[in-house]
Amino acid sequence: MPGNLTELLLSFDLVPVLPEINALQSGMRQRSRDYIREAEKHGHSEDVCTYVKCDIGMRRKGNLGPTGEQLPDPDLLLLSYTGCFTFMKWFELLREEYGKPSLMLHVPYQADGRATVEMRDYVVQQLREEVIPALERLSGKAYDEERLKQLLARSAQAEEDLVWVLESAKRRPSPIDGYFGGVYYVGPMFSAFRGTEDAVAYYRELRSEVAQRLERGLGPVTPEGPMGEERFRLVFEGPPNWTSFRQFWRMFHAEGAVGVASTYTKVGGTYDEGFRHDPNRPLESLAEYCLGCYTNHNLRNRIDKIVRYIEDYDADGLVINSVKSCNSFSAGQLLILREVERRTGKPGGFIESDLVDPRYFSAANIKNRVESYLQMIDQRRGGALGRGRRLATV
Ligand code: SF4
Repeated sequence: MPGNLTELLLSFDLVPVLPEINALQSGMRQRSRDYIREAEKHGHSEDVCTYVKCDIGMRRKGNLGPTGEQLPDPDLLLLSYTGCFTFMKWFELLREEYGKPSLMLHVPYQADGRATVEMRDYVVQQLREEVIPALERLSGKAYDEERLKQLLARSAQAEEDLVWVLESAKRRPSPIDGYFGGVYYVGPMFSAFRGTEDAVAYYRELRSEVAQRLERGLGPVTPEGPMGEERFRLVFEGPPNWTSFRQFWRMFHAEGAVGVASTYTKVGGTYDEGFRHDPNRPLESLAEYCLGCYTNHNLRNRIDKIVRYIEDYDADGLVINSVKSCNSFSAGQLLILREVERRTGKPGGFIESDLVDPRYFSAANIKNRVESYLQMIDQRRGGALGRGRRLATV
């Protein structure tokens, strides 16, 4: 989840298990429908965040992980998150479900659009006085700052390669899809692998593969093979839908539409703006990481960022996938759309779906919207679609 403390946990040899990632994976593996139904059976309303319901349902069904295997119960519920208060209710529920102690790192929201030194110090103080002592008690090990520094150095190395990969999309054609494909690029970084040798190796390998694609002038690889001609360059806001991920992506790549940049790939860190975990300032750097995640930014910052992406990545427009049950981030998205259109002169497209509730993915409606949106872009630039060419059936 955004603002996790992976390196700190690994420095105590503790294994982080991230409920948002479990829910997302359960959605991709078509298990979330049953879990959500199970949670609703126990009184969780239709409007509750579906990550929460998926997680609670998963627990009620025997604590089955995304692969269907049973997960061991957690020893500690460490709530370290940024920007969404639903997490607090979520962890209160988990405390009841598991009967295990919970601990909360409070990360102040960037309401004024910036993280201050006082905010950082407040987070560091909590790390020193509450989180680290709790992890020492749990693991039976003393805080080892040298070990934490080694982990943070590896994070910084991997972050450098990740940024290089994401920024490769500035080239034409883009060698990557920075939204749908970006999910795979940020996965290890945003979850439990930051700080590991495996993460360093993954990003080194990824960078060298993307470098080869750049050299050869190749576009992105999709689940159905290499994408054809790049015809539309889009910036995306909001997470993708997970239960129909492949179908959703196909609606774009089949038309030559590539995600050149996305805000979703920044929810677990705004590395593209220069942040790196810093082994020389371990706790301060962890605090700055939490404060800087995209989810902790206000609407003005989010708009500025999207406008910058459209300019820097030479995009044709903005697509927002607004998530029905994610009240925290859906609120204000129409305002974002209008403001970005006004400032860039580029058209915006608005889609509504959900994260892991398949009942809210209406393929025909979404496909219609995507098609109309791409046609609109094409008409504005007087392209082939505008002169009557029909879009392929997705
Ligand atoms: S409401 Fe949105 S940000 Fe909050 S936990 Fe759910 S999906 Fe995550």
